Amino acid sequence: MANSKQLGARKRVALVAHNAKKNDLVAWVEAHAEALAPHRFWATGGTGDAVRRACPRLEITGLKSGPLGGDQQVGALIAEGELDVVIFFTDALSPHPHDADVQALVRLSTLYDVALATNRTTAEFLISSPLFQDAVETPADGRLEGR
Ligand code: PGA
Repeated sequence: MANSKQLGARKRVALVAHNAKKNDLVAWVEAHAEALAPHRFWATGGTGDAVRRACPRLEITGLKSGPLGGDQQVGALIAEGELDVVIFFTDALSPHPHDADVQALVRLSTLYDVALATNRTTAEFLISSPLFQDAVETPADGRLEGR
């Protein structure tokens, strides 16, 4: 996998949360509504509904519900190079019928070097990074830099 990466200032972000984590994701979105507003979002069905209710001004493209293939759609977007950041708050205490899809999504995020937050603290670190708001490129040493 090539290290070269150029991301625009307007990040393409997937939002997904298991049911037990939807309130956490909504709280994160509300806390950062201002910083998130310029970016573009994709969300699985139930997550998109919850986030839209809390923050109607975000531009969100809805996908299928996670258990019905929404996580696979997010994986396909990653593989097509259509996403820069995945925020997926996972419930580590419950089994899910679509665990295989979740694992595939995590694998593809790793493979394609896409930033992935599976919990709130990681999401806080990502949104606090200047790389979230700035255009980003990879110089020769492979380290991401804002420009
Ligand atoms: P949902 O799916 O946003 O449709 O609830 C999330 C998931 O469980 O993957």
